[in-house]
Amino acid sequence: MTTNTLTIDIEDWYHTEFFQNKFSYKEWDNLSSVVPAAIDFILPFLRERNIKATFFVLGYIAERFPDVVDNLIGAGHEIACHGYSHTFVSKMSCKEFKIDVQKSLDILKKSRDIDIMGFRAPACSITDRESWFFPVLKENGFRYDSSIYPNSFLVLTKRKNSKYTAWNVFEDLWEIPLTSYKLFSNIGIPLSGAFYFRLIPFFIYKYLVSNLNKKDIPLNIYIHPREICEDFPIIKQSMLADLVHYWKIGRPLTNKLDKLTNKFNFISVSEAYFNSDGSFKGNNI
Ligand SMILES: [Zn+2]
Repeated sequence: MTTNTLTIDIEDWYHTEFFQNKFSYKEWDNLSSVVPAAIDFILPFLRERNIKATFFVLGYIAERFPDVVDNLIGAGHEIACHGYSHTFVSKMSCKEFKIDVQKSLDILKKSRDIDIMGFRAPACSITDRESWFFPVLKENGFRYDSSIYPNSFLVLTKRKNSKYTAWNVFEDLWEIPLTSYKLFSNIGIPLSGAFYFRLIPFFIYKYLVSNLNKKDIPLNIYIHPREICEDFPIIKQSMLADLVHYWKIGRPLTNKLDKLTNKFNFISVSEAYFNSDGSFKGNNI
């Protein structure tokens, strides 16, 4: 049976692309956080269902809430890296990106004996211009990236040569793409990301994932703490931003996640794609 991967990007409610210029880094320490409450919900949720997930943790969050990382490790989940400052990769130079990644890795690994295999760019923000992106990940010991989204409304993500299942992007570094349901050559329905999961009626979503799994194509989905825990300031913006941020977050999402995890199998990315010696297992998982 095909096994799907559940990933959670551990960042706060003010880290979304729509708030990039609204709150400066200096203000972050004074803002409320949804992370501890979301972790308090998701850890028992996963334990009850015997699911090990992948958590792409932002370095800033690991610095502010070190217990969060320790609790995730204690529960047997995979810790992966989401950069330090949630700055778009496409807005950084190679040097700035290296500094951001290394700072995040230093914080995540501090006093912890963990191997960090995976990286996800904030808001999937890699384009065809950052030729240095994969070499920098390789230099820093990553085994996979999970930032490319073949079809979504995200305008920032790399499209050129993107595929629907895992592929080798640089030396022995693998891309584990976010899932789209391929309709025609370059046209698909985005399924990854809780926004699409919240938007698409469950019976349709279930049908599409079942079809993928029948072809041995796994779903690689991500959710955010702000979608689990809705206890944060509602700041109205454009209609599109409000829809992306607030549509059916909280209980409607967690109910849907309950149905999804009852219907399909989920494990972490490292467990799904890599052997214990770090070698790539292949796509049919
Ligand atoms: Zn993010």
